[in-house]
Amino acid sequence: MGPRWELVEGLVEQYTDLPPEAIFKEDILRTGIAFSEDVLRVASGYKPKAYFIFSFDLVPISEMDKQENLRVPEEICLIGGRRSFRRTIISVRVNPSSPYKVAISDEGKLILTLERKEVCGVRYPRAPDYYGRTLSNGKPISDIAPSIEWGYLVYLTVFRLCHYHGRKDECKFCDINENYRQQKRTGRSYTAVKSVGEVLEALSIIQETDSESRAYTVTGGSVTSSLNGLKEVEFYARYPEAIEREFPGRWISKAVVQALPKSEAQVLKDVGVQIYHPNYEIWEPELFRAICPGKEEYVGRDVWIERILDAGEVFGPQHVIPNFVAGIEMAKPFGFVSVEEAIASTAEGLDFFMSNRIVTRFTTWCPEPITQLGAENRGGAPLEYHVALLKTWRDLLEKHGLPAPPGYGQPGIGQAVFSVSSFMDVVRD
Ligand code: SF4
Repeated sequence: MGPRWELVEGLVEQYTDLPPEAIFKEDILRTGIAFSEDVLRVASGYKPKAYFIFSFDLVPISEMDKQENLRVPEEICLIGGRRSFRRTIISVRVNPSSPYKVAISDEGKLILTLERKEVCGVRYPRAPDYYGRTLSNGKPISDIAPSIEWGYLVYLTVFRLCHYHGRKDECKFCDINENYRQQKRTGRSYTAVKSVGEVLEALSIIQETDSESRAYTVTGGSVTSSLNGLKEVEFYARYPEAIEREFPGRWISKAVVQALPKSEAQVLKDVGVQIYHPNYEIWEPELFRAICPGKEEYVGRDVWIERILDAGEVFGPQHVIPNFVAGIEMAKPFGFVSVEEAIASTAEGLDFFMSNRIVTRFTTWCPEPITQLGAENRGGAPLEYHVALLKTWRDLLEKHGLPAPPGYGQPGIGQAVFSVSSFMDVVRD
């Protein structure tokens, strides 16, 4: 057994109250997946990776010799294998030198291997009918309204850039701006600012042809002054306002934007947003200031946190679900050196929010090399951190008697579809 198998299996044996699938999932998310030419050929006809907001890849597109950026599936589903995995959905993060590879077995089936040894079976996601359609202006729907989470969530990144850019302002783990540039260089249809009309046209096609999507997210980069003459809240509120007018209640409505003043959060609520994600990214005060300099400069950590609590009064606390990027606590040169310290800090934040009935969620950090932190931390955070975090998050959720956060579909292993971390996979009945 190779060293990575020993690491993962050792943690599976240590954390007997976590599903083994979730431990493998965390390791796959932090490491990425390699695809051979054969399995890329099989992927044609399935749902391709749409690059719904960031690159979420472990190499830049310029280093993808097999044009994986155009050919890999959006997600994979793990199933069966030596540990009888229950269905587990994982976002695809390309890494041609990963020890995790999608391969074809001797029986001709898709499998996942780790260090050349089979882990389990793999399924690719079906491409929804609307992926074959284009808008009247010729743009593919996968640019304007791609879906993720195995078809559950329509992801509307209506502004694919962020006004926090450059070393002074941009969050140091974020590649939204650089990813936009690399996508444009490939010639992909990748709309910087989507019009309300484009979004409505795409959703009307989805509405006619799809029964799997249950929620949509409106999001994009931060707006520091104005965009198209509109303040941040004015710019973003137009989308749910129009969607709810045109398709009232068809989808659960979510918005991921900065922590806004209470009156502006109320604007989002009034136009029909049900779930609000004012992402705080990292709890530790000094690390927030170092890693999110734009957020610190324009809003400030303390105000950010106050606004999250205020939003709880507007939406109801369980409809405020701020995200953090799990693992950046340990990124050099700013982060904690020991897993124990990193978990203790993050647990303090989780406990704070949950004691206010606000359930945070997390995305497993993908150390994209086109970001400052990714370039300096090619291995990301240790798997021990990610697994300890899963247990900490789940135990605090249970300690506070809180349900799984709404808007993510069914919780629990074998049911969950959230693909960029395992928090929904570890929720127990
Ligand atoms: S606010 Fe930070 S994380 Fe969000 S898009 Fe801008 S740079 Fe990225």
